Amino acid sequence: MTDVVPCPSCGVRNRVPAAATGMPRCASCHTDLPWLVEATDSDFDTVSDSRLPVLVDLWAPWCGPCRMVGPAVERSSQEFAGRLKVVKVNVDQAPGVSARLGVQGVPTLLLLRQGQVVARQVGALPESHLMSWIKASLDSAAA
Ligand SMILES: [Zn+2]
Repeated sequence: MTDVVPCPSCGVRNRVPAAATGMPRCASCHTDLPWLVEATDSDFDTVSDSRLPVLVDLWAPWCGPCRMVGPAVERSSQEFAGRLKVVKVNVDQAPGVSARLGVQGVPTLLLLRQGQVVARQVGALPESHLMSWIKASLDSAAA
């Protein structure tokens, strides 16, 4: 799976893979690119295997609060470009991942570092709180 992402700095359109060993950078100006991908049971392990911390958004199409928090989660991939990989998981398509991560309800947001859950947020939250939660989780994970 490959997405085309316009560089936030120079506008050049870049191909960004769902899974990679490094982190995506603009081919033209080398700015870190937002990394936002989707995963299901079949590819979650590959997609979430990242040197970057991974924000996992477990959501469902029938869940109103998920639709509220979804756009903020997508913006977080831009806000934290180069520091964070964002993986959206539709729980209806990923019952195995949901069970393994102990998801009781949606939305559930998890911050993974090297496959380990280092922070967990259950339920929707305002965008400003989401951003500060991610920042605090990244800062503590780096320590
Ligand atoms: Zn660029």
